[in-house]
Amino acid sequence: VTENPQQPEVNIGLVGHVDHGKTTLVQALSGSWTDQHSEEMKRGISIRLGYADATFRRCPEADEPECFTVDETCEEHSVETDVLRTVSFVDAPGHETLMATMLSGAALMDGAVLVVSATEDVPQAQTEEHLMALDIIGIENIVIAQNKVDLVDRDRAVDNYEQIKEFVKGTVAEDAPIVPISAQQDVNMDLLIEAIEEEIPTPDRDESEDPRMYVARSFDINRPGTTWEDLTGGVVGGSLVEGKLTKGDEIELRPGREVEEGGQSEWRPITTTIRSLQAGGKQVDEVRPGGLLGVGTGLDPSLTKGDALAGQVAGKPGTLPPTWHTFEMDVDLLERVVGGDDEIEEISTGEPLMLTVGTATTVGAVTSAREGECEVKLKRPVCAPLGAKIAINRRVGARWRLIGIGTLKE
Ligand code: GDP
Ligand code: MG
Repeated sequence: VTENPQQPEVNIGLVGHVDHGKTTLVQALSGSWTDQHSEEMKRGISIRLGYADATFRRCPEADEPECFTVDETCEEHSVETDVLRTVSFVDAPGHETLMATMLSGAALMDGAVLVVSATEDVPQAQTEEHLMALDIIGIENIVIAQNKVDLVDRDRAVDNYEQIKEFVKGTVAEDAPIVPISAQQDVNMDLLIEAIEEEIPTPDRDESEDPRMYVARSFDINRPGTTWEDLTGGVVGGSLVEGKLTKGDEIELRPGREVEEGGQSEWRPITTTIRSLQAGGKQVDEVRPGGLLGVGTGLDPSLTKGDALAGQVAGKPGTLPPTWHTFEMDVDLLERVVGGDDEIEEISTGEPLMLTVGTATTVGAVTSAREGECEVKLKRPVCAPLGAKIAINRRVGARWRLIGIGTLKE
């Protein structure tokens, strides 16, 4: 595994149908395998959001595109390569039941690589559903990786390429470059890096703003049986979208935790101190926006265990957006259900919806619905600014399907 010399500055989502090679591609570019949980290893699929950093480099002696690499030394020219930038990959699960995880990851993505296997017809269900999600969430910087070209002959690869072209017509990925690769055989990684460098620039971010972090994961990193004197505080992982965080800063997490008092339950923000910061695989004293980071806190690790704080927002105390238990939203429905011809019916009063707001996913019951807008009462509150985009999912048969996008209003 190569060291990343700098903090990652951009988050790139890996999206696409299960088994098309997302995790393999992350591994090829970063040297780390994102399916790290034992259940994921056993089942061979990504269940949670995985993330890994990679540093893109350039050989000073080679021409484009051959100069692009992740290796520290160019073997052909026997020279050290120059660092271009470090990126974070957000590896979204492609399994159909894990759409909520993909959607919460989408909140962190500055751009995305849509991985499409050349061995199957296009589109497979989650190829389409993930692209639709990028489209409605407004992720416009997209590169398409046509993967597994080592398994098909030239004619099949060309056919598949044409299918991809046809499929993306009229979508946000219409003009996205399509790069044929083999993630497993390390074929055309230079071309892919070149395309990512061109299509997914590092966004301009304002470091002078108050810090705002979207929490995507949270952990208890202590081994079972650790005595209390040796316990390390809870860790939250996610992405800073604005401002800076410094070791020693006080932070607030919203909506926080549910506390019961006198038979009443109430959500209270959590306040803690930043004890350590990890970015780019290293301990650092300060982090800037971009990339994924881990924040070691003074919290009781039982509060952060098993992603308990995923979906929260962190920042300077007193500066975070409101916590909503109910809200109204303007609703923009898709024309039809992804992967089918069925028209999407209007949202009706009483129906349950699954909503993704930032990295938070919560179920809400519709308390009133009119054309183009509705009001929902949430099972778990969310912290979000007015105008936040909300991915709306409806239960269809046994699963939640993406049916549209909402905009939060009072
Ligand atoms: P994911 O579900 O999209 O993350 O897919 P994985 O990365 O887990 O890959 C699924 C399977 O396809 C694994 O067995 C990989 O080894 C295999 N695979 C991935 N990329 C390639 C490739 O470029 N060529 C070949 N031959 N197999 C690949
Ligand atoms: Mg995977």
